[in-house]
Amino acid sequence: MASKKPIQSLRITNIIRVCNQHHHSMQRFVEAVVTEGKPIRLDDPFILHLSQRICNVTERIETICQSNNAFPADLPDRSYRAYLWLRFLSQPEWLWQHLSTLADLIQIFRQEKKKHKQKKTALQIYIENARYLFRSTLVNKTCQLHISEGFIAADSEINISLIQTLFIKNKDDLFKIRQFNHSEAYKHIMQTLCRYTEQSSLSTKGHLYDLKRIFQRVNRQYFRNSMQPPRLIWSSRVALRRLGYYHPDTDTVTISRALDCQSVPLYVLEYVMYHELLHKKLGLKMVNSRRMAHTRQFKRLEKKFIQYQLAEKFIENIHADGKTTHLLM
Ligand SMILES: [Zn+2]
Repeated sequence: MASKKPIQSLRITNIIRVCNQHHHSMQRFVEAVVTEGKPIRLDDPFILHLSQRICNVTERIETICQSNNAFPADLPDRSYRAYLWLRFLSQPEWLWQHLSTLADLIQIFRQEKKKHKQKKTALQIYIENARYLFRSTLVNKTCQLHISEGFIAADSEINISLIQTLFIKNKDDLFKIRQFNHSEAYKHIMQTLCRYTEQSSLSTKGHLYDLKRIFQRVNRQYFRNSMQPPRLIWSSRVALRRLGYYHPDTDTVTISRALDCQSVPLYVLEYVMYHELLHKKLGLKMVNSRRMAHTRQFKRLEKKFIQYQLAEKFIENIHADGKTTHLLM
């Protein structure tokens, strides 16, 4: 099932670099403020200047997209997420909350460092529009902590748990962090951040199929056009294991590029799209204190797809090589 890469012609090369520069300058500023014991003030000249720079970059990205008859959501995934992050921080209240969280984390880190007697460890924090909750890596004796922007809604208790994971990982901290990940406060930040999903066919068009048109057909037929369009992307790899995936934080449906080929009938793509849109519609349900995606209600609705049997059979055959067992996520 070889298929060619979809055409992705819209690229802006230095968005990630610009974001990293902002991360570094924000941290330098916040380190100094924390050392002086001052609060973060929105009218601080550094913040006013930073805010202006962020607005300028955001506008520049939008202008480039417009001149290509495209939208920021047509950019490759990383660039698009970076754009959303910049756009989010171009609003002063969010920028303030972002910097205040950074200050809290830095303060906690300094205290924990003393407790654990690790004088030499340095920390660089990236609170960003990440696809994951958090992760840390050690680069040239500096610990790089990447945290999802959703954590700017967290209180100090969660921040302590996050910083503690850098020293000793324990189940309680990880449990608290996961609980927070499912909170309304976290969701609110991610929903505010991940708007502007409008796309042109520049990024939804594959080699053969256009995800935007498939979405429109499924939305019309099964949801009476009530579904707000999510962002639609082809997977970066030709994945057979995962044919489709819905990411609720970023409101993104990813469809495997393996399906973008002549041997796959349209109804299979529509079925995978329908499955992922059901995830968007139904969300996760608590069943016996576990979060379930494929509930009974989900499975009942899934069977309403007209060619359900045919599509399931086709997918089973894709996996008949024995390497993979299932299917849609
Ligand atoms: Zn699923």
